[in-house]
Amino acid sequence: MTDLYRLLPEEMEKMVTDMNHPRYRADQILYPLYYKFPKNISDLKQLPIAMRDQLIADGYTIGSAVEVHRVVSEDGDTTKLLLNLADGTPVETVLIQYPSSKIGGHPRSTICVSTQVGCAMGCIFCATGQMGFERNLKAEEIVAQVIHFANLLMQRGQHVTNLVFMGMGEPLANYDETIRAVRLLTHPRGFGIGQRNITISTIGIISGIDRLAEEDLQIGLAISLHAPNDMLRKRLVPTAGPHSVEDLIAAGKRYFKRTGRRVTFEYALIEGVNDSAEIAKELALLLDGNGSHVNLIPINPTAGNFQRPSRRNVLEFERILYNAGVNCTVRVEKGSEISAACGQLRTDIVG
Ligand code: SF4
Repeated sequence: MTDLYRLLPEEMEKMVTDMNHPRYRADQILYPLYYKFPKNISDLKQLPIAMRDQLIADGYTIGSAVEVHRVVSEDGDTTKLLLNLADGTPVETVLIQYPSSKIGGHPRSTICVSTQVGCAMGCIFCATGQMGFERNLKAEEIVAQVIHFANLLMQRGQHVTNLVFMGMGEPLANYDETIRAVRLLTHPRGFGIGQRNITISTIGIISGIDRLAEEDLQIGLAISLHAPNDMLRKRLVPTAGPHSVEDLIAAGKRYFKRTGRRVTFEYALIEGVNDSAEIAKELALLLDGNGSHVNLIPINPTAGNFQRPSRRNVLEFERILYNAGVNCTVRVEKGSEISAACGQLRTDIVG
């Protein structure tokens, strides 16, 4: 069985011509896939019936996701879905909307996609990490999450504006399928979202960062740092392994040099663990002169015992970085009350 959402436009053309159909039939499949969201091959009405039958007989399918649970935040800006993929695998995907500053303007609609079911990295403050690793998602299963939300947004007269690979799993640990999904979603004859509107977030798989820099893609990179020294980082990210924080900073620099895309360092702030003024100063020293950007994320309540620092401590941490010349923002948190925010996704507690 081959899901049509797996095929890049060039591969779709080859499939069509191998079946002795004219090349233009590929676009008669691609267009509805990304703009009409068919559920079955029989919905591809522009194709002759004989060709649809041939596709079905040859084992082609359209693997859409089925929504089994939906939670919407009180302000309506965050929607978390539990989706069952074509084989029944449950996965969580989140839509985060930021209202437009223009009257009547479209909101920014960011989809946070999952790349794995569970995660092997085991970050101690992350609900997904506590689930353990189940399996990698295939590119078409990553695409299916986006398509599901694109369909939902289309019904409201809206569209997907941004994608972040920050849901369940470590994207660079599922490198080939993640990159295939990026190419499917950014291809002008595919979903067609701008490369610059995509960010991949990694806990720090250095070989993956270096590989990504060579892909000729203009996507943003976020490296989850969470600590300014190795001892603290290994406590928070037990799988950090041989990579030091200096190694991560150096990998970020190489990525920026090769792609020209700014690298963001994500920093989950945890009360009493990595939020002190001393640690802020140590982080400022580490990043000094890098031109890097730090995104501070006051931690969300998860299954663990970690607490979010007070607003005062968060602002003090930010002030120390800012005064040391480090670009810094505190993430506007969305969806934490529905467990849709960073570090809160897991499939076994929804339902
Ligand atoms: S924070 Fe990211 S890398 Fe770490 S366990 Fe959670 S999903 Fe995996």
